[in-house]
Amino acid sequence: MANDNKLQNIIAHCKEYGFVFQSSEIYDGLSAVYDYGQYGSELKKNIRDYWWKSMTQMQDNIVGIDAAIFMHPTVWKASGHVDNFSDPMIDNKDSQKRYRVDHLIEGFAETLDKEKGDALLQQMDQLLAANDFAGIKTLITDNKINCGVSGTCNWTDVRQFNLMFSTEIGSVAEEANVIYLRPETAQGIFVNFLNVQKTGRMKIPFGIAQTGKAFRNEIVARGFIFRMREFEQMEMQFFVKPGTQKEWYEHWKETRMKWHLSLGISPDKYKFHDHVKLAHYADMACDIEYDFPMGFKEVEGIHSRTDFDLKQHQQFSGKKLTYFDTDINQHYVPYVVETSIGLDRTVMMILSEAYEEQDLTTDDKPDSRVVLRFPPMLAPIKLAVLPLTKKDGLPEIARDLITACKPHFKCFYEEKDSIGKRYRRQDAIGTPFCITIDHQTKEDQTVTIRYRDSMTQERISLASVKDMILDKIKMF
Ligand code: ATP
Repeated sequence: MANDNKLQNIIAHCKEYGFVFQSSEIYDGLSAVYDYGQYGSELKKNIRDYWWKSMTQMQDNIVGIDAAIFMHPTVWKASGHVDNFSDPMIDNKDSQKRYRVDHLIEGFAETLDKEKGDALLQQMDQLLAANDFAGIKTLITDNKINCGVSGTCNWTDVRQFNLMFSTEIGSVAEEANVIYLRPETAQGIFVNFLNVQKTGRMKIPFGIAQTGKAFRNEIVARGFIFRMREFEQMEMQFFVKPGTQKEWYEHWKETRMKWHLSLGISPDKYKFHDHVKLAHYADMACDIEYDFPMGFKEVEGIHSRTDFDLKQHQQFSGKKLTYFDTDINQHYVPYVVETSIGLDRTVMMILSEAYEEQDLTTDDKPDSRVVLRFPPMLAPIKLAVLPLTKKDGLPEIARDLITACKPHFKCFYEEKDSIGKRYRRQDAIGTPFCITIDHQTKEDQTVTIRYRDSMTQERISLASVKDMILDKIKMF
């Protein structure tokens, strides 16, 4: 299956089976904004829970918070977002279409052979690192990179556009009332650094984790839930003693890669990409890239943010944000290493990894299925319970099993259609286990368990079902 097709097929499957819908679809949708349906929201919640538990419960020195989306406007001056949170853009004068220059050049590089494409990207990285926008424009025109809509190379100069959404708080529309929708969750952690450190009596090194919505007015928003205007981040800021950031940066690179591999994804689907152009706050940074249907792209960023943010907030708020280190009897502003992963991008990664179209044709009959091979701990529905018929007391046994299981994990009951059709529907939403209740169940208290991935079946005792599933879906 061509990868372009794979992405289109995943998008269609997500809509057909209640994972992801275009926002406000009945009004023709809102670009780059999506809603999660009945199975998508379960999948997303399970991924969020797995991240949360991995980053808080399973760590001795990381606690979680839940900060508000709205923050004092000065936060975004201090963080540098008002002045720096912008992307270089270029407009095509004929089509009026606006592009992020890196996306425009990357798209063109993909059409070249590998060596030429890599050389072009290297040139681009160097020019962007030097903020040489005139050079970027020359690179675009020299390579005759055209607009996909007009087909012309008639470009404006490269300009910066701020990505933050603003709105007003209170009833009077004065400039002083303008606030921003947070473009990252991290700042809610920085401004609460001392609150958490003092009330939690935290000792450095320690971390603060958070998940929540972030908003960016992405100009080129495409790639389904890969790039959205409203999305969710899962971030952790780890506060360390100045001078130790390098070792913690390496530690978190390794720890986060292990987390990715724990999802059952093969190592060759990942790579690290070191940043050449560092953000204004960073002294080291890299991305973890996953091999999406559109190629290797960032799913998570790991950044050594120095003491930039805390120092800025100290300066703009006039409040001291230092830590007293009793080991060395000194006050200092801690350094920060952060891990920042997009929840929606992770959903897309899990979907891309899980989606499979299988040809099951045998000699006598053509057959196929679409299966989502989610890790069982992340599957929206863990167990489907299917009585073979609607009568003879089988539905009652099925209902009793669900009553026993549903406090522990999400179950699904269905009695309509043939068992084969019901299995296929569960495959399509990624349910790892189906239990069939048949007449034999009434005689010997056994049931058939059917495994999604191998499609094999075996007979097990009804009484063992709950514990067996609990064991197979456990996260740690
Ligand atoms: P990109 O280069 O793709 O725009 P970024 O480097 O700006 O991403 P960060 O600011 O490091 O991203 O944000 C951390 C994570 O948040 C990213 O790795 C990504 O998973 C997620 N993320 C960022 N922007 C978006 C978006 N518009 N839609 C969905 N997820 C996003």
